[in-house]
Amino acid sequence: GVVTRFAPSPTGFLHIGGARTALFNWLYAQHTGGTMLLRIEDTDRARSTPEAVDAIIDGLTWLGLGWQGEPVSQFARAGRHAEIADQLLAEGHAYRCYASPEELTQMRETARAEGRPPRYDGRWRDRDPSEAPAGVDPVIRIKAPRDGETIVRDQVQGDVRFPNADLDDFVILRSDGTPTYMLAVVVDDHDMGVTHVIRGDDHLTNAARQQIIYGHMGWDVPVMAHIPLIHGPDGAKLSKRHGALGAEAYRAMGYLPEALRNYLARLGWSHGDDEIMSTEQMIEWFDIADVNKGAARFDIAKLEALNGHHIRHADDAHLLEQIGVLLPHIEGGADLIAKLADEGRRAQLLAAMPGLKERARTLVQLVDSAAYLFDARPLSFDDKAAGILDADARALLTGAHAALSAVDDWQADTLDAAVRTFAESRELKLGKVAQPLRAALTGRATSPGVFDVLAVLGREESLARIADVMA
Ligand code: GLU
Repeated sequence: GVVTRFAPSPTGFLHIGGARTALFNWLYAQHTGGTMLLRIEDTDRARSTPEAVDAIIDGLTWLGLGWQGEPVSQFARAGRHAEIADQLLAEGHAYRCYASPEELTQMRETARAEGRPPRYDGRWRDRDPSEAPAGVDPVIRIKAPRDGETIVRDQVQGDVRFPNADLDDFVILRSDGTPTYMLAVVVDDHDMGVTHVIRGDDHLTNAARQQIIYGHMGWDVPVMAHIPLIHGPDGAKLSKRHGALGAEAYRAMGYLPEALRNYLARLGWSHGDDEIMSTEQMIEWFDIADVNKGAARFDIAKLEALNGHHIRHADDAHLLEQIGVLLPHIEGGADLIAKLADEGRRAQLLAAMPGLKERARTLVQLVDSAAYLFDARPLSFDDKAAGILDADARALLTGAHAALSAVDDWQADTLDAAVRTFAESRELKLGKVAQPLRAALTGRATSPGVFDVLAVLGREESLARIADVMA
């Protein structure tokens, strides 16, 4: 079966590009009934941190991109990598190189002067090891082919040809015995049984070099799919200024994981004109063959619109659950967590959900517009609400209070009818009554529908809030 892998370097958060790579690996594994593995490429000891590993795992978990088995630590496999370097050496596919740092600098400078890419000249390739200088720890270099070309048969990029003259005898094992990235990736992918390598196209040249190792070892090269990088709306490579944040930042901004999945899937992959997709549909439709060759553009406004769509169409109970996921990550969240520990309040929030989700494009907005549910009397009023509640409005609310008190069946439609009748009796448009009511009930000038607000707050609390401000 298909085995994919996500292989992040734990040097920071799970950023949006990494999340998209993980998603494509996950979707392809799901689509084919295969498995996705997780490998933490932590060989760069100076830059890899346990916090970053946790952040990546947390981000993947939040996004719902599960992997099979324990995450594999690349660093822990260094012994195995060295073993393969020794095997390549023993079989004559690699050699010890004793070139000094000065010699290497010299080679780079000569190449630059001649306008060629920097390239090791192979000076130890055929040299007699007995000539090795004393006291120098050698590196091990691969014997790369010198003529012809290496072709990466990529599922996204097509056949990409690299003249072997450009692929030098690169280092596979450093002088301290640690493997290079180039060697480690090949050995790990082979040992983990990876059948499909799906990653950013910044690794395309590496793929050519890695193929040389596969060839020497007689191992099957996995199917390669190098996906185009993500750019900002201005066409420049995605950076923080474009919203290249970690997954946890999107969680804290109130994005639903399914909306982010939907958005990321559409960054570089498409299925006809479908913009809005459920995860089930993405799994059914995803194919590497449909990944675009051109760079995708990240557009936060589109993500927000898509998130709003997913919120509107989400199940109310699911939204309640997702608010629970959000709250620990926002300012003032702890306060709300404490309030929502109360069963009655949770039920009230759930009852308010149909009204709340109509207007929110993020869960943060949704939680913000639910604040009226949790505010204690007497409410505080924002400037606009305070402006609405002038002397005339307060007098009007006295009448509205009486009309509402007479309602037996405290439901949105009966309340609607009662308020309309009252407005007509005063020869006022509905809005003239609804606006002061809204201000009195929520402390704000905008809120979900005022009859929903009345219904959700209940008779006692609604009448008390109106009484607090009426003349
Ligand atoms: N660790 C590499 C990165 O974070 C990915 C290597 C790979 O997918 O082969 O860019």
